[in-house]
Amino acid sequence: MSRFFSSKYKHLSEYVPGEQPKDKKYIKLNTNESPFPPSEKVINAVLEAARGLNLYCDPECSALTESVAEYYGVNSENVLMTNGSDEILNFAFSAFGDIEHPFAFPDITYGFYPVFARMNGVPFETIALNDDFNVDPDDYCGINKNVVIANPNAPTGLVLSLKEIEKIIASNKNNVIIIDEAYIDFGGESSISLIKKYDNLLVSRTFSKSFSLAGGRLGFGVGSAEIIKDLKKIKYSTNPYNVNSMTQSAGFAAMKDVKYYIDNCKEIIRVREKYKKELSARNFFVTDSSANFIFAKHDKIPGAVLYSELKKRGVLVRHFSTEKISNFVRITVGTDEQMQALLKNTDIIIGENR
Ligand code: PMP
Repeated sequence: MSRFFSSKYKHLSEYVPGEQPKDKKYIKLNTNESPFPPSEKVINAVLEAARGLNLYCDPECSALTESVAEYYGVNSENVLMTNGSDEILNFAFSAFGDIEHPFAFPDITYGFYPVFARMNGVPFETIALNDDFNVDPDDYCGINKNVVIANPNAPTGLVLSLKEIEKIIASNKNNVIIIDEAYIDFGGESSISLIKKYDNLLVSRTFSKSFSLAGGRLGFGVGSAEIIKDLKKIKYSTNPYNVNSMTQSAGFAAMKDVKYYIDNCKEIIRVREKYKKELSARNFFVTDSSANFIFAKHDKIPGAVLYSELKKRGVLVRHFSTEKISNFVRITVGTDEQMQALLKNTDIIIGENR
């Protein structure tokens, strides 16, 4: 740290993204990316957009915003496009959180939430998951704090029903409830329909997983026109050109090619269910994940050991050292072929640890 670093950041410990090692080619099942490339239309749109890179991009993302709004059955004034959904989440902590407006979120969830809170000077409370790793909606009803819940949750993959989500929103009318739907296309019901009924709801979405655009950095928020206006104020006070023109074109082309992505999601769900069963048959406890990852714990092999033994064999999964989940690994659902390689190597490791 330099002697110039502001003391307001002295309690900040930054988010650590999943590793992207360059030492060899891994079967990469550690950061919940799609194993499928963007569609041809998206690739061509990006190539075309590259010709106009001498000009600034449209700060309003007009065409993309309109197509997203139309697809999700809302108005353009209800949508704000961002640089990944991390950005809409950060904007939300910044816009709605302060000493008088703290946040609450589960103790086991997306690791960026506490970082956003500290970065924005927002106090927060973490609420323990149930013993079965579910979020208990009653814990959040009438909590009188802003709430952020990933639905499906990460890294457990467990989902709340729309009814349960609505209960949380309806009982906290004076607080903003953020539903982070990064993984909703792989299971569960979106809360977007509720924005017409509740002005305290913000739904955060991403193109990183189901739309094969993790490297393009595209996300968005859906909420009441007033909430979106507040978030825009933050955007225009930090980075008006937050979504570059190639990414805007990629997103626009993806919205015209939705069937390709829906089919990919169906395949990921099929593979997920198949390998949940395969792992359960090998003495793994597996949560009933509705996301594009499997959260699994072997009855004999600690999570850290499984992670490092798999890595040695060229298969990368994610391990979290957080005490409650340190015996689990999170495995991104890849292609059937990638998952076969995971299974083959897991069998060898189980054999060696017998
Ligand atoms: N929310 C959750 C629950 C996530 O797991 C992630 C991915 N790391 C994000 C949001 C952010 O994804 P992105 O910024 O790529 O949209």
